[in-house]
Amino acid sequence: MNKFWILFMLSLSVNAYSQKDYCGAINQKSEWLVNYQKNPGAYELRFDDTLYIPIGLTVVGDDEGKKRMGDLNLIKILNILNEDYAEAKIRFFLPRVVRHEFYSKWSEHATVLEGADMMFELNQDSVINCYFLLDAAGNCGYNLPYGGMVVSNNCASLQDHTWAHEMGHGLSLPHPFYGWEGGVSWDGSVSHNYSNPAPEYVLADYTNFKDTLIRDTLIIDTILVEKIDGSNCHLAADGFCDTKPDYLYTRWSCTSTNAISQQVQTDPNGEKFQSDGTLIMSYADDKCAARFSEEQMAAMRANFLNEKSQLNYGQVPLSAITSFNIDHIKPFYEETVNYQNINLQWSQVENADYYLVQFSKYSQFSIISLDTIVENNEMLVPQLENDSKWYWRVMPFNAYNFDIQFSNGSLFFTSEMVSTSELSSTIKAWPNPVLKGEFNISLDHNEKIENIEVYDISGRHILLDMNINGSMASIETKNLNMGVFIVRINTDKQYYTLRMMVE
Ligand SMILES: [Zn+2]
Repeated sequence: MNKFWILFMLSLSVNAYSQKDYCGAINQKSEWLVNYQKNPGAYELRFDDTLYIPIGLTVVGDDEGKKRMGDLNLIKILNILNEDYAEAKIRFFLPRVVRHEFYSKWSEHATVLEGADMMFELNQDSVINCYFLLDAAGNCGYNLPYGGMVVSNNCASLQDHTWAHEMGHGLSLPHPFYGWEGGVSWDGSVSHNYSNPAPEYVLADYTNFKDTLIRDTLIIDTILVEKIDGSNCHLAADGFCDTKPDYLYTRWSCTSTNAISQQVQTDPNGEKFQSDGTLIMSYADDKCAARFSEEQMAAMRANFLNEKSQLNYGQVPLSAITSFNIDHIKPFYEETVNYQNINLQWSQVENADYYLVQFSKYSQFSIISLDTIVENNEMLVPQLENDSKWYWRVMPFNAYNFDIQFSNGSLFFTSEMVSTSELSSTIKAWPNPVLKGEFNISLDHNEKIENIEVYDISGRHILLDMNINGSMASIETKNLNMGVFIVRINTDKQYYTLRMMVE
């Protein structure tokens, strides 16, 4: 094959990515895909079965616990992802609860390499890792073969298919215009006139998108340009013959009649064509993009069953929750509670793995002040303002079914009242911040600690090792990520809440 590699050492700069507007992935054709495309018939596809793929979702906000995507929006776009993959008979499920992580340095990151650092630090095992945050290095999203995928919040509306696109990369698919990501040259420096015949080859830079992270070497490869007569479709571009030639590497809008590109292009033989806008892996507008080709679907199934077989642990899906009745146990209806210590509890629902809890000042929930997914039928709410009336409601769902259906809801009032104290003279807590070690608490001798609960900033109860001995206690924090946690101390007389910083 007429193929060569250019390798050169340099201190890597990835400024180019910030200029991209859609997908940051120049998804190199993996070795797995190259082998698969040589002999697709040799791979198991199991088209009779629905494939259940475990995904791990991490919502990243800033250091203050703000600027994160709402959890209801996340569930809605998960439903869209599953619709986009319905024809491929692939369904994504949630073996673990949605995580919230708060790091300003990652919620808006400027380079794909910083995203890689985030994945190395935060990735979960045994799932395909997906991150949702404010700014994915200037892109709508990108996928790193060794890490996972990132989607920007502003490309995660109900009209977008960015997640499906990045997931396609995660399951081995290149762009149909593979090779053209940097234009005819790898760095976008050479302009191309689409009226002229395209070259036989283009250059692509996939340094950050190889199977492992390479920090100090630029990797550029030549990619064969696909022709309209189909003569090189097995080798050129994405290697799929049912995705027709496409050289469009910036976002484009399709014709309303047949969803092809306005831009007419010319192949190396001089033949004219327009690109297919219906392919999710193209850069066509989200309103055009709707499908994967047969060969793309087969490749994704084969990739999951073969290369990602460790993720295929034969889970039996739970059935959907069709009807339920939730009692809003605590606070009771119209109760007034201390705004720094809102303990919520509701009745369990059969078949529910998770509960999405929403808070609003409006009975119609027209504006949501906070929504959070928790695993148990309780939470501590640390972030609602004082002297307000709060409506809350609960949506039970399980790992496989994400129907949007809420409880009737309840309401409570917040005020500043009684016995909670962050700066009480009777309580000492140190060190704060704590550097992943023991966090100590000491009360006056005449007060006895009965139990201590730790919650993350989203109100989720976290189980930690701790020692309680009369008026003294210590909490082991070594398994916690950096961030702010709420510690609630119940004594034989009253309770206290305080904030614990882990660094
Ligand atoms: Zn892409």
